[in-house]
Amino acid sequence: MPAEKAIPVAKPASKPGDVKIEQKLEGVIQEEKPVANKITVGHVHMSGCTGCLVSLADNYEGLFKILDDYADLVYALTLVDVRHVPEMDVALVEGSVCIQDEMAVEEIKETRRKAKVVVALGACASYGNITRFCRGGQWNQPQHESYLPIGDIIDVDVTLPGCPPGPQSIRNVCVMAYLLLQGTDEQKALAAAYLTPLMNLAKRGTEACGCDLMYDVINQGLCMGCGTCAATCPVRAITMVYGKPQVDRDLCIKCGACYAQCPRSFFNFDVINEFESITELIGAAMGQGGE
Ligand code: SF4
Ligand code: SF4
Repeated sequence: MPAEKAIPVAKPASKPGDVKIEQKLEGVIQEEKPVANKITVGHVHMSGCTGCLVSLADNYEGLFKILDDYADLVYALTLVDVRHVPEMDVALVEGSVCIQDEMAVEEIKETRRKAKVVVALGACASYGNITRFCRGGQWNQPQHESYLPIGDIIDVDVTLPGCPPGPQSIRNVCVMAYLLLQGTDEQKALAAAYLTPLMNLAKRGTEACGCDLMYDVINQGLCMGCGTCAATCPVRAITMVYGKPQVDRDLCIKCGACYAQCPRSFFNFDVINEFESITELIGAAMGQGGE
């Protein structure tokens, strides 16, 4: 049973653990819709801007496909008239938690108790992001001064960074959660392969910064100068200097996207080698060619 945590919790930085994908995953895409039972999904809105929910909605007809075939949306204060956190298979949690707001702290703990899988959706839930800079002192709640990523208060199963995460990545997590909970053994294994890096990211901790590139990629001799980190940064805090990223820390909003997108950060080959099968499976699930 996932545990609640004391507040605040200082977490040591650690490398993500490797989750071995042992099964050979060939020829598993046989049907478009393998099982009938939908999973239940909720959107839990903490101290976020609703941009992550908008990104989910930016799947357009893909969202309808998910709601038609794979998931019932049982909780989302922006969209659904349900006032209290219900039991659900997957909770997509957006925003960090103001620990001076008792209702917010109770809601995130309630979410952990009610959800089988908790997803930290977006940079605020995952790492605090822009709310890391909150200092309180503003009318009409000047005492609201400390905001923590949800992983400092509850156990998180999947971390999906981004400010916001891309529509496709949210869609993929929903489809893969469905396959993990309702699919065949082979589909469960493939879904686990997809989710493994994001589960490893959840284990890695709740602090993020452009300096992760320095400590965990460049200083490890891993950077190959591809520039993905600079292309990813939502505030253009990264420039490539002599083929290596240089971070303007005064611009960095601590979203964690650069490290998460860096191809030398944490993906292992067991997962990368299944990329084609995974994209084909998602494409089949969405009624498209793979993308
Ligand atoms: S994404 Fe990673 S490998 Fe590519 S330039 Fe940035 S730090 Fe280097
Ligand atoms: S450098 Fe940019 S992408 Fe990296 S954590 Fe800072 S704001 Fe996010």
